[in-house]
Formats: sequence, C-alpha cells, structure tokens
Amino acid sequence: MGDLRFQVSDLLGHPGSHRDVHGEVKLFLKVGETTTRSSSATFAHLTAVGEGILAEGWSGIMADHVCVRCLREWEGPVETQWSELFVRHPDGDQNAIASDGVIDLEGVVHDELSLALPADPLCRPHCAGICPECGADLNDAPCEGHGDLSEGPFAALKQLFGS
Ligand SMILES: [Zn+2]
Ligand SMILES: [Zn+2]
Repeated sequence: MGDLRFQVSDLLGHPGSHRDVHGEVKLFLKVGETTTRSSSATFAHLTAVGEGILAEGWSGIMADHVCVRCLREWEGPVETQWSELFVRHPDGDQNAIASDGVIDLEGVVHDELSLALPADPLCRPHCAGICPECGADLNDAPCEGHGDLSEGPFAALKQLFGS
C-alpha cells in the first residue's frame, strides 16, 4: 500500500509557488474486461493558485486485458494525464484541502485511471475474433466453415456435379 497524501500548507497563499511530488497506491479496478491488481504510479506538479492548489498529474498502472473478440489475455500499461483543482472550501464535488493542509490524490487517480482503462479491449486493431462454431482463433488461420458444403443445400449439388 502506498500513499498519495501531500502536505501543501507551505504553498497555500503563495500563488505561483509549486512542488513536484510522486507516490504509489495499489488499485484494484475493474472496467469491462480490464482489471488492475498492482501499484499505480503518480507524478504530480502542485501549484498554488488563488483558490487553492492546482494538481497536474500523470498516473500509470499495469492492467490485465482480455480481448473481447478472441479472449486472448495480455498485460499492458495504461496511463493518463489529468488536472484537478483542490480548494479549502469545496463546493459540490470539488476536491477538498483537509483542514490540516493535506491533499489526497488517491480519489482522483482512482477515477482517472478507471476512465483510462479500455472497457472493450482489442488485442490488435482488427482482431478477427474466434469462430462461433469451433472456437478456432481466426487470427491464426481462416476457419473453413462448418456444414456449409457437407450438410447444406450445396452438398447435393456438389455430389451431383462430382466436384
Ligand atoms: Zn483478439
Ligand atoms: Zn470454425
């Protein structure tokens, strides 16, 4: 488990003052067929602005993907850039600066990475998928089809013409 809580009291009230921070936090996310079970890494640039602290960050995590067409599984990085304002007196769903001058980036990182995870991952841009009849991976070889020639109406014709 890591921590994405940062003390910003020294920046508050000094617009333009800034600091770079980084941290890690373990996230178990599930979006569609994509899941995570490892630590996310976050680097953020914190800048004091009139109303509070502007946090501009980059977050990344390794995710387990399952191709929605061929069910192939693979692990790959997902990353996202984000920008969020933290204020002392939040209105509605604004991010709050705690009374002790601490901001917690975990909620932001959780939400931003959830948005970045592909709900319908494809192992390749034009994955051919699997044959619904035999389950063959059509990326490896085209399926010859099932029954079209041996059982269908064409079978009789085929016999008739001895092809
Ligand atoms: Zn695929
Ligand atoms: Zn098939």
